[in-house]
Amino acid sequence: MVSIHPFVLLMVHSLCLTVTTVAHAQFEQRTTVQVANDLAKALSPNATLIVPNDARWSSVVARVNYPRISPGYRLVVEVATEDDVAATVLYANRHNIDFLAIAGAHGESTTLNRLRSGIQINLRKLNFVNLQDDQTVAVGGGTLQWELTSHLYSHSRRAVTGLCECVSVAGPLLGAGHSALQSQYGFSADNLLSANVVLANGTTVLSSSTTNSDLFWAIRGAGHNFGIVTSFNLLTHPIPSTYSLYTLIYTRDKLDALFSLVNDIDSPPETRDPKFFLNAFLSRSAPDADPVFTYCLAYEGTPEDLHIRAKSFLALGPLNTTLTTDITYDKLYQALGFGKDSYSCSKNINQGISGVALQKWNIEGLKKAYKIFLDLTADPRFFDSFLLMENYGIVAVTGVDPSSTALPLEERERPILTSAVVHYEGNEEATRRDAAAYIKKIKEALYERVDKDEWHAYVNYAAGDEEVEEVYGRERWRVEKLRELKWRWDPCNRLRFFAPLV
Ligand SMILES: Cc1cc2nc3c(=O)[nH]c(=O)nc-3n(C[C@H](O)[C@H](O)[C@H](O)COP(=O)(O)OP(=O)(O)OC[C@H]3O[C@@H](n4cnc5c(N)ncnc54)[C@H](O)[C@@H]3O)c2cc1C
Repeated sequence: MVSIHPFVLLMVHSLCLTVTTVAHAQFEQRTTVQVANDLAKALSPNATLIVPNDARWSSVVARVNYPRISPGYRLVVEVATEDDVAATVLYANRHNIDFLAIAGAHGESTTLNRLRSGIQINLRKLNFVNLQDDQTVAVGGGTLQWELTSHLYSHSRRAVTGLCECVSVAGPLLGAGHSALQSQYGFSADNLLSANVVLANGTTVLSSSTTNSDLFWAIRGAGHNFGIVTSFNLLTHPIPSTYSLYTLIYTRDKLDALFSLVNDIDSPPETRDPKFFLNAFLSRSAPDADPVFTYCLAYEGTPEDLHIRAKSFLALGPLNTTLTTDITYDKLYQALGFGKDSYSCSKNINQGISGVALQKWNIEGLKKAYKIFLDLTADPRFFDSFLLMENYGIVAVTGVDPSSTALPLEERERPILTSAVVHYEGNEEATRRDAAAYIKKIKEALYERVDKDEWHAYVNYAAGDEEVEEVYGRERWRVEKLRELKWRWDPCNRLRFFAPLV
């Protein structure tokens, strides 16, 4: 492949924009009502067009992270068919209107705010789950995690998805898809068999390992930059047993012992039992109480199976211990606190993050982060914030050839995903600035003694201010290949609002 300098790519994209803008100038400027009328003629009968004064407007633009993340829409199109997506993209291109696909509305990158007066292509009506056979399921591009999980569960099957029930299946998958099942079956993206993609130019293509295989490579890791996935086929897996879960609360004095223990269990991470799932967060329950660590230890098996693996955690003397047993797979995410009615699924709440991926916990860094967190949550504006501390298993994800998908090597090799999750209300600039400053300080503390050029942010946890290599990987060939493919599949850089490559 010929290597293209990012600057050249940027120039080409700008030229492309100029050409379309000049072409656009020859068109009559369309008002929102005219755009809605034009599109109504091009779309299927079940598609819906929603304009800002419509009663449904606030519900279709509602999102997690609002108003911190507020893409600017002039119109929402609830597409009902794949052809509706293609027709909307074609129309938007013809009139040089930007567009953004939305599924679960959980995207957190501030780059989404660059959309101005665009068309929201709302995929929620493309919401279906069809078991093809025992091994494969066809999923609509707008399907949410709980819709897929509950449908498959009724057929005694499951698929690799993210944890949060209200997040879409496609959104996480296009960037990897970290999952409670990843250590057994790989990332969601590793379970993708094929996808129907509406490209930036409005044409629809199939992509799989044998058809448009370079596009298939790119959508598994950098998918948001390459097209709108209207449907896809995923592998399914059996459900061998129920889960057992310990929820353990630890006070600050246990920080050292607790995270040294986690480091030991994951030394090296490939040796951890793939059915043993660890997830934790640091939070404060009352203004006068110190923040505590809530550690969830889940095992796919009996309480005895779990107990064997949890012994050393129990020996540390948690403040509180809760054991839940016989959790069926369809109830696992509620039990872990990620159910569709949980706080994590609330819309219209600001939630600032900045993803940090680590090989091991740095105990000194964690102590610093704890102190910053103490200050953060002592401020009543940020009291509800927490520190996300995920420790994924990586057995099956490291079993996949890292060159077979666009996913950065760092994604496969680092078991820890952590970030300050700073909650606050309203849209005051000073609060937003203070939140960002705390997030930055905690990020720097968590990266204690890690060189900046080794930092890695999972694309779906990226804040939006990272350089491309921090998100898409430090291997030069990988980013170069992505840029070349971007040039081929989206030369005008129409898909540039979520974690853009260019
Ligand atoms: C509470 C919470 C829990 C989370 N849990 C997990 C987790 O367990 N595992 C994990 O990996 N990530 C997780 N994430 C991160 C999650 O992957 C991202 O927020 C993701 O962008 C959400 O996708 P969405 O469709 O719900 O959001 P949206 O805002 O609808 O989508 C985000 C972006 O993805 C693109 N997109 C969405 N659907 C499509 C499609 N069909 N075709 C093409 N592009 C599309 C668009 O560019 C869109 O702007 C979580 C986030 C939150 C807020």
